[in-house]
Amino acid sequence: MKVRFVTLGCKLNFAESSALGKSLLSSGFTRAEDGEQADICILNTCTVTDAADHKCRQALSRLRRENPNAVIIATGCYAQLTADRMTGQPAAAMKGWEGADYILGNDAKFDIPELIMQVSRRVAEHPIVVSTPIREVDAFHGALSFSHVDSEDEEQHTSIADRTQRTRCFLKVQDGCNYFCTYCTIPYARGKSRNPRISELVTEAQQALTAGAKEIVLTGVNIADFGRSTGETFLQLLQALDSLSGEYRLRIGSCEPNLLTEEIIDFVAASRHIAPHFHIPLQSGSNEVLQIMKRHYTRELFAERVAYIRKQLPYAFIGVDCMVGVRGETEEYFDDYLSFVRQLDVSQLHVFTYSERARTRMVEMDLAVVPAAERKRRSDILHRLSEQKTKAFYAANAGRQVVVLWESRNSKGQMAGFTDNYIRVTTDYNPERVNTFETITYRS
Ligand code: SF4
Repeated sequence: MKVRFVTLGCKLNFAESSALGKSLLSSGFTRAEDGEQADICILNTCTVTDAADHKCRQALSRLRRENPNAVIIATGCYAQLTADRMTGQPAAAMKGWEGADYILGNDAKFDIPELIMQVSRRVAEHPIVVSTPIREVDAFHGALSFSHVDSEDEEQHTSIADRTQRTRCFLKVQDGCNYFCTYCTIPYARGKSRNPRISELVTEAQQALTAGAKEIVLTGVNIADFGRSTGETFLQLLQALDSLSGEYRLRIGSCEPNLLTEEIIDFVAASRHIAPHFHIPLQSGSNEVLQIMKRHYTRELFAERVAYIRKQLPYAFIGVDCMVGVRGETEEYFDDYLSFVRQLDVSQLHVFTYSERARTRMVEMDLAVVPAAERKRRSDILHRLSEQKTKAFYAANAGRQVVVLWESRNSKGQMAGFTDNYIRVTTDYNPERVNTFETITYRS
């Protein structure tokens, strides 16, 4: 049986698709090559924005068109929300999902290897829904993916083991979120915050290094919230992962600013293996808007964290998530936000435009809606500011000695890699240097 994966969304989804892919390959499935019809298609969906939902529906109809006889299984966050919404509804209410044979919630995703042993053809006119209400989900399903990421096309992020490259891997350390920010749908799709024991993650990380990985990226929904299931802490996890044997580096995924303590920053600064690279969600630089969003910090705390990182690690890459256009973000609040972000010494802004998400508290709030054109204008302003900040960051690094991990040949026939502080560099391709560290002088 030939299987095809299409994975959308975050690194966590890719890591989970990869874990499923490995399990299927070891059960005798093979990967459908490009242009080849698959027997089973697995669509791992995302629902972080309206645009993500739209992309999932498009991917579903493309899969159905290209694989008319395949069993198509939709799973992931958008599938979970759909399954929860559809429970008790007539099957005919499944509008937009007609191409799927199964809709599996996030928990049922991990039963796919058993499920597909029992199916070999389209089963019904309307999809069959298999899902546990997300608030009842306690289980943590581990996942590890290898890939040559940071290609512009995330779908190139390989989800089946035999196509992987071994340089960098993504280790799922945590799942779910208990925060319920008013604009965010993820807690409804991923459930409560949970994690495995540190000892299990250490074993997985050591296996990844033995398999040839040189960089491990820690992924999850709210990773610094690590420990809710086990009473351990994120700092303890970092300490354990920093003491493995071998030559490698660790990157920390996105950390909420209120959880990124000075103790953690101190440890990163003194660690042997953790890259000076932080990804911190700000979302708004207006305290009034942070209140509306029910975020867990003020902008003053955020600024303190950035200043502390700069003090301990002057050349660290600091990426910051910024959202624009949420309800109640008046022009005055946006101007205030902008002037706050302007003076932040960070390396890049990841700009997201707010879109209304069903079930979230924000859609019930009696606050002014920002028109679409104005959301775009604000997004464009922050994108331009981000370009300036990144340019300044690169310029500040010019002439420094940096350690690069060479990854693989890029589409232009050159070899690309990232420095520890996340600057992408290229050089002439040399297969012997792939997957090795090298100290170079950075030229901006
Ligand atoms: S911290 Fe807030 S934005 Fe992030 S996943 Fe949790 S609820 Fe969503």
